[in-house]
Amino acid sequence: MQDPDRLVACEHCDALHTRAALKQDERATCLRCGGALYRDSSRAYRRLLPLVVTALILLLISNAYPIVAMDLKGSRMETTLLSAVQALYADDMAPVAMLVFATTILFPLAELLMMCYLLVPMAQRRTPPGFERILRGICRTRPWGMIEVFMIGVLVTLVKLSTIAQVVPGVALWSFGALVVVLAVILSFDPRELWHHLDAHDADDVPARSRDTAS
Ligand SMILES: [Zn+2]
Repeated sequence: MQDPDRLVACEHCDALHTRAALKQDERATCLRCGGALYRDSSRAYRRLLPLVVTALILLLISNAYPIVAMDLKGSRMETTLLSAVQALYADDMAPVAMLVFATTILFPLAELLMMCYLLVPMAQRRTPPGFERILRGICRTRPWGMIEVFMIGVLVTLVKLSTIAQVVPGVALWSFGALVVVLAVILSFDPRELWHHLDAHDADDVPARSRDTAS
C-alpha cells in the first residue's frame, strides 16, 4: 500500500506519481504529459521568512511615507496611499476606494501576516495551531493582492502629470518598487509546499525519538 503522503497528482493530466526526494533546485515533471509536478523548495523555503519580514517592513514604509510630491504653481502637495484612498472615497468613488484599499493594503498585509504566523513557529520546528486553515487562507488571499497593478497605474499617472506639474517621487514609490520585486520572489513559492516542510520536521523528529528509546 502506497503512503498517501508521498503521492502527488499532476495538475495538468491527473496522473498519480510517487513523490521522490529531489536534489537542490531539481524539478520533477509528469511522465505522461511532461507538466511540472513539483520542485525542490528547500532553498526557497529557507529564505522565505527573511523575505516575508522584508516585505512587511517595505509595506509599512510604503504606507507611512508619501508616494509622490507635486509642485504646482508654487504650492506643494504630497500624497500617501491612504490619503489617495480617502480622496477617492470623498469623490463619491467608494467602491473604487475600497478596491484600492483591499488590493494594495488589506490583502497583501493579511497574506504576509499569515505567512509570518506559519513560518515563525515552523522555523522553531513547531506546528502552528490551525496550520491547514491559515494555509488555505493564504491560497485564497493571494489572487487579490495587486500591488504591481497599482504600481503600473501610479507610474502611468506620474508620466502624464509630469507635463503639467513638477513631480517628485516620494520614499513610498521606491519602497513600493522594491516591494513588487520581493513579493514576486515570495509568490514564486507555492504555499502548498509548506506541507512537505512541516512533514520534514516530523520525519526528523521520529528518528531522534527512537534513538532516545534505544539508548
Ligand atoms: Zn501530467
